[in-house]
Amino acid sequence: ITSKLPNVGTTIFTVMSALAKEHHAINLSQGFPNYPSSQKLNDLVTNAMNNGYNQYAPMAGNLELRLAIAHKYQLLYKSTYHPEKEITVTAGATQAIYTIILAFIRPNDEVIMFKPAYDCYEPAVEINGGKTIPVQLSAPNYSVNWEEVASKISSQTKMIIINSPHNPSGTIWSKNDMLQLQKLTINTDIIILSDEVYEHIVFDDAQHQSACLFEDLKQRSFICASFGKTFHNTGWKIGYCCAPEALMVEFRKVHQFNVFSVHHPSQKGIADYMQDVETYLGLNTFFQRKRDLFLSLISESRFKFQPSQGTYFQVLDYSEITNESDVDFAKRLTKEFKIAAIPLSVFNTNNQDDKVLRFCFAKTDETLVKAAEILNSI
Ligand code: PMP
Ligand code: GLN
Repeated sequence: ITSKLPNVGTTIFTVMSALAKEHHAINLSQGFPNYPSSQKLNDLVTNAMNNGYNQYAPMAGNLELRLAIAHKYQLLYKSTYHPEKEITVTAGATQAIYTIILAFIRPNDEVIMFKPAYDCYEPAVEINGGKTIPVQLSAPNYSVNWEEVASKISSQTKMIIINSPHNPSGTIWSKNDMLQLQKLTINTDIIILSDEVYEHIVFDDAQHQSACLFEDLKQRSFICASFGKTFHNTGWKIGYCCAPEALMVEFRKVHQFNVFSVHHPSQKGIADYMQDVETYLGLNTFFQRKRDLFLSLISESRFKFQPSQGTYFQVLDYSEITNESDVDFAKRLTKEFKIAAIPLSVFNTNNQDDKVLRFCFAKTDETLVKAAEILNSI
């Protein structure tokens, strides 16, 4: 067999969750909550099933849900997306991201992305014949050198993929970062794929800098989002993307044959749930408390950290503990100490190893206490 992706193995999230299970370890590796999602939301989905929402949703998504999404962009960013023409509901952000890349990337197109990068971007570019142009970010700040980005833009640059709040580092981009990006792409045909799945998980009163807040960026951007992160139900795999009509027309040409439409009862249930905007506005406070609890519990440990600025991930520096590679240390932590985390080097083009691991704190307080006891003992 001639593989179309010869360099791709199994995603680290599957690998680490399986290892955690095998060794009965506390799983802070793959990002998902270990507490129940909202009973009210579950009931609304059940109601949708009982009220006939059991056949195909419209190709672009349940219209009430698209209206609720459009309302959210007005409320939070004073930004208008036409619910019928500029918003499409997808099978999680993953499908939105894959479909965008499939719809636009041709052989030899260059796609700039910031490393470490969430792991679904690069294979999607590669399978379409595109070339990844990495810009490496490094611990502890993961800040962007915009001159380097400028030097990597060429006539072949088709797309730039950005992700703030950033998985895996837990850093966020400032308004200045977005303005730099806007300046570099103005008067070009470059498409921005803005992965904003953690938009509602930003800490210490920081503002999420959505691509839709910057008028020229908005005109060239797809914004991707995931209800799994917002409503604590990653297993439902419902997300969406927004983009100006001309971009969305191309997206839907592919989406209609890629998946056509996604689980209808969940869409109707989420639409009803979102009528109360507190369901998503309260998330910052919810996760900031968890972050603060986790960090206060491990403040005396030998792990060093800068508090996560957004996402439900915390990066911990273990350089005082061992010189092992992050992959080896992550495996040893799981097997010997019964706690699983994600090594960051797997998200870097050159496997750059900053001696840090990513821990997910979307867990019950009880789990965080147990995890901290282990981390304090290392
Ligand atoms: N992008 C990022 C940065 C993510 O962390 C995730 C989920 N972990 C996704 C995309 C995919 O989201 P979904 O589960 O909705 O497909
Ligand atoms: N996005 C989740 C994470 O970063 C994992 C999702 C997945 O397993 N594909 O941990």
